[in-house]
Amino acid sequence: MRLTTLGTGTAAPSMRVNAGHLIEAGAVTLLIDCGSGVTHRMGAIGANWLGITHLAITHFHPDHTLDLTTLMFAWKHGTLPPRSAPLAILGPVAISHLIEQFTGIYGDTVRAPGFPIAVRELAPGERVELGDGVTLEAHKVPHTAESVAYSVERGSARLVYTGDTAFDTAVAEWARGCSLLLAECSLPEELAVATHLTPAQVGAMAEVADPARLVLTHFYPPVLEKDILEIIALRYSGDVVLATDGWSTAIEEG
Ligand SMILES: [Zn+2]
Ligand SMILES: [Zn+2]
Repeated sequence: MRLTTLGTGTAAPSMRVNAGHLIEAGAVTLLIDCGSGVTHRMGAIGANWLGITHLAITHFHPDHTLDLTTLMFAWKHGTLPPRSAPLAILGPVAISHLIEQFTGIYGDTVRAPGFPIAVRELAPGERVELGDGVTLEAHKVPHTAESVAYSVERGSARLVYTGDTAFDTAVAEWARGCSLLLAECSLPEELAVATHLTPAQVGAMAEVADPARLVLTHFYPPVLEKDILEIIALRYSGDVVLATDGWSTAIEEG
């Protein structure tokens, strides 16, 4: 399994584009979240955007969804020949409604782009087979009403991505023992809000989850002025990475 962090930024414009993370496992190429800039970031770093088989959305905030249409348009008009392979779109309950709303604005670019699209709504706790031994499981997180975290598994590899979330012990327990915890780390303590994580909260969740590796993403610029690694180290002693756009790592599948 391979993780590439495409977009490690947030609503705040910076060198980091909005949320997007690519997971390649066997025959599955899964893009989780598709915020603004993710499509062109894939082109810039030579990621396999043409080979994406599955697109999963954690929640409907613009910084996680707005490039969905851009990516569809790229598959239709940004490559020769145009994409013909089927695509599966997965997301929380009401993802179908989101797709229909995008279709209402952009028409067939979204719903009939020239290749088959299957939209699948996942209830919290639901687990689906993506093919080639890869499974995807959703877990409710406290952020917006629909927000979920995802667990992607193949063999002994288990990657858990929090999506956007507030501090939640249940999510950390669900992630316990994973190979790699990809966690949002939005804001420093003095700017803490009820819907995102601070470095200290990430550290507390990592202490419970005890992943083999901790990779951080979704940074608002002020949090990057802090010594995030030092704060996390108070609670979690494992390997911690502050991801950047285009960073990539392999996860042993055993
Ligand atoms: Zn959000
Ligand atoms: Zn976000």
